[in-house]
Amino acid sequence: MIVSKFGGTSVGSAENIKRVIQIVKEKKEQTAIVVSALGGVTNLLIEASDLALKNDLRFEKIVDQIEKRHFEAIENLLPHDNQTNCKAEVAKKLNQLKEILHSISLLNDLSDKTSARIVSLGEIMSSFIIHQAMLQNALNATLIDSREVIKTDDNYLNAEVDFELTRKNLKDALGSNSAEVFLFPGFISSNQSNETTTLGRGGSDYTAAIIANAAGANILEIWTDVSGMYTANPKLVRQAYPIEEISYQEAMELSHFGAKVLYPPTIQPVLDKRIPILIKNTLSAKDKGTLIAEKSLVSGSTVKGISHIEDIALLTLEGNGMVGVPGISERLFGALAKKGINVKFITQASSEHSICIAIDSDESDLAKKSVDQEFEFEIIQHKVNPLIIETELAIIALVGDHMKSHQGISGRMFSELGANNVNIRAIAQGSTEKNISAVISKNDVKKALNTLHAAFFEDQIKQINLFIVGVGNVGGKLLEQIKLQADYLLEKQHLQLRVVAISNSRKMFFRSDGIELSDWADQLEQQGEKADLEGFIDKMKGLNLRNSVFVDNTANDRVPDLYADCLSDSIAVVACNKIACSSAFDNYQHLKYLSRKYNAPFLFETNVGAGLPIIDTLNNLIASGDEITEIQAVLSGSLNFVFNHFNGETPFSEVVKRAGEEGYTEPDPRIDLSGVDVMRKILILMRESGLQSELNDIKNESFLPQSSLDADTVPDFLETLITESDHFNKLREAAESEKCRLKYVASYKDGKASVGLQHIPKEHPFYNLDGKDNIVLFYTNRYKDQPLIIKGAGAGADVTASGIFGDIIRTGNK
Ligand code: ADP
Ligand code: ASP
Ligand code: MG
Repeated sequence: MIVSKFGGTSVGSAENIKRVIQIVKEKKEQTAIVVSALGGVTNLLIEASDLALKNDLRFEKIVDQIEKRHFEAIENLLPHDNQTNCKAEVAKKLNQLKEILHSISLLNDLSDKTSARIVSLGEIMSSFIIHQAMLQNALNATLIDSREVIKTDDNYLNAEVDFELTRKNLKDALGSNSAEVFLFPGFISSNQSNETTTLGRGGSDYTAAIIANAAGANILEIWTDVSGMYTANPKLVRQAYPIEEISYQEAMELSHFGAKVLYPPTIQPVLDKRIPILIKNTLSAKDKGTLIAEKSLVSGSTVKGISHIEDIALLTLEGNGMVGVPGISERLFGALAKKGINVKFITQASSEHSICIAIDSDESDLAKKSVDQEFEFEIIQHKVNPLIIETELAIIALVGDHMKSHQGISGRMFSELGANNVNIRAIAQGSTEKNISAVISKNDVKKALNTLHAAFFEDQIKQINLFIVGVGNVGGKLLEQIKLQADYLLEKQHLQLRVVAISNSRKMFFRSDGIELSDWADQLEQQGEKADLEGFIDKMKGLNLRNSVFVDNTANDRVPDLYADCLSDSIAVVACNKIACSSAFDNYQHLKYLSRKYNAPFLFETNVGAGLPIIDTLNNLIASGDEITEIQAVLSGSLNFVFNHFNGETPFSEVVKRAGEEGYTEPDPRIDLSGVDVMRKILILMRESGLQSELNDIKNESFLPQSSLDADTVPDFLETLITESDHFNKLREAAESEKCRLKYVASYKDGKASVGLQHIPKEHPFYNLDGKDNIVLFYTNRYKDQPLIIKGAGAGADVTASGIFGDIIRTGNK
């Protein structure tokens, strides 16, 4: 015999019930079918009783809703003539329900016994309708009320099965009947007095397992709305996939730790008879599904799955009076057991100073009362502290039979979680090592599951989540480059870049599953909300995605104030904005400290020389033990562009204007022309070389006339460039008379640095520096006579974007 159970979704609509009938029709041997209530109906029944208890008459609306669901199913499953009787039967049950609900409301009392009667109606109605539909489809089906065969104790909502009696009843019922199909409502049972009891939420799986056991079935099929038991809850981990084969023990651990696809008690009755379980998808019957049997597939991954339980409370009992005193744990567990509280997780510090236990957070008040009462005497004597309760927690667990013979799994689990800023509150590893579990904050569940899933199951593909502020010239190019390179990076470097948020100064736009980059500008414009920097950071932190990177493509002085907040939340920062690194040394140092502390890269290669690998080279020199003795550099692509084009044909003011139009200057050209931009760059190189310098340690001999320096606004400044054209022409002529070119040079030697315009003779490496190029000469202990030279385009949106892109990829290789 085959036993097949169809869950709530599988029988949730007429369309799905038709699929079920088709699946049953294809069975070649006698089959017992167990059905749940129509999906969601059990919840509605509970909601209605809760309302009735609160004297809230809206329960009537819910009953109407339940009626509508069932009537719709009937109308779509049965021919018109047969509908009336079937509807009348359902209406009869629902009238009874209404009466019960009214009395609850009147008496203001709801016992477990009455609750069981109410929730049982879901399965009673569904099995009745499905039976009618089966008969309609020429299936020789017999409906058996599970309450007549499955006998239990008096625990109405979570009843304990009397297996001996149940087995006998089932044998009698099945043995004497030659039907092709036996149909049972799941979930429901009865006690010795024939009152309705239920087997706990999700209990239809268990009904099916009990029947499989009694009938000695050759297989138990669980038909649901997913294609098997997945490596993690597929609703939370998009990359999760069905596990092909898994052992009973592994399935039991996964379901105990929250894999709802199988109700935990289901496994024991089939395990006793070594009956395999096959989990299948009603909505996609051709999918292979998951086979649960004695041995798990050894060739698969060592970790079989990751599961989690939300709404956990952690109880900590501690105190000096606990050390070496026998019986404390016994009393603690006794106090919990007395109240029927289920312990899900235990750790005890080896000093015996504290014991930590995780339970359902619903039960935490009850637990506190009971435990504090048990230890009342010790608490008064200050030997034991009152029970500490922490809520808003969750348990995540790695499960696998073969984890015990592999080293490093827990190490990897905790380092991956740590790297993603998931704080671990408690850890437990069973001595059988089939399960390693940890208590974490509820808010971190999705991130933790995805992080662990990526680490243990995915083809080492690392997903990087980008939050980009500034999508103008540079940012726009960056998005274009990301779009073009996405496939290459995925294939060759196993990096998946996802742009989750973009913002300009007016609008910001978030999409947690990634923004489609082909029309990001339209989406930002049309679907974006009002830009708000703090709001942007809050939202980014709220999403709590792994490998998050905050990218600052602005020159805005408010954005860098937010870096510390990002880094402290383990969010990497990539900035072409140089304000942070050239601000007060303490601030620069603090950001570096946070980056180390929270293992969040802080990268700013484009602060100096756009995409040129200047900072990276410098870092490598220092890391390998070299020492910088001198730097000579042309670091302003903008000034180089300006002086290269200021050749006597075009006035200085025009050249500056053109540089601005072509995107080679900062939005405020004074920052370039005053030399401040170059000062910031050489300062950053000095700091990266290990010096504790400040901006005002750098000498700046400005080439600007006083009137330009005094100008308050950008237009006023540009105006002075016209009025002072003689001043600029003289600068050029002076250089030309010495057969030199004008270059704006930054120098560092012996702890001192300066920036300024210099006359560069023909034989100097700077003389032929074209267009907007940059050049840096590093003199070091190893590069004494011939400097290490880095040269190339040092400004422009394209090269800057590629430098930022490089940093983003570097965050992925941390
Ligand atoms: P049914 O109504 O068929 O009994 P359930 O809702 O009880 O279905 O169980 C199926 C659901 O279990 C899936 O839709 C999925 O959301 C959830 N689930 C949680 N963890 C897992 C997992 N590891 N594998 C598969 N499904 C899971
Ligand atoms: N209908 C019950 C519930 O929702 C039992 C089941 O579906 O397994 O809990
Ligand atoms: Mg279920």
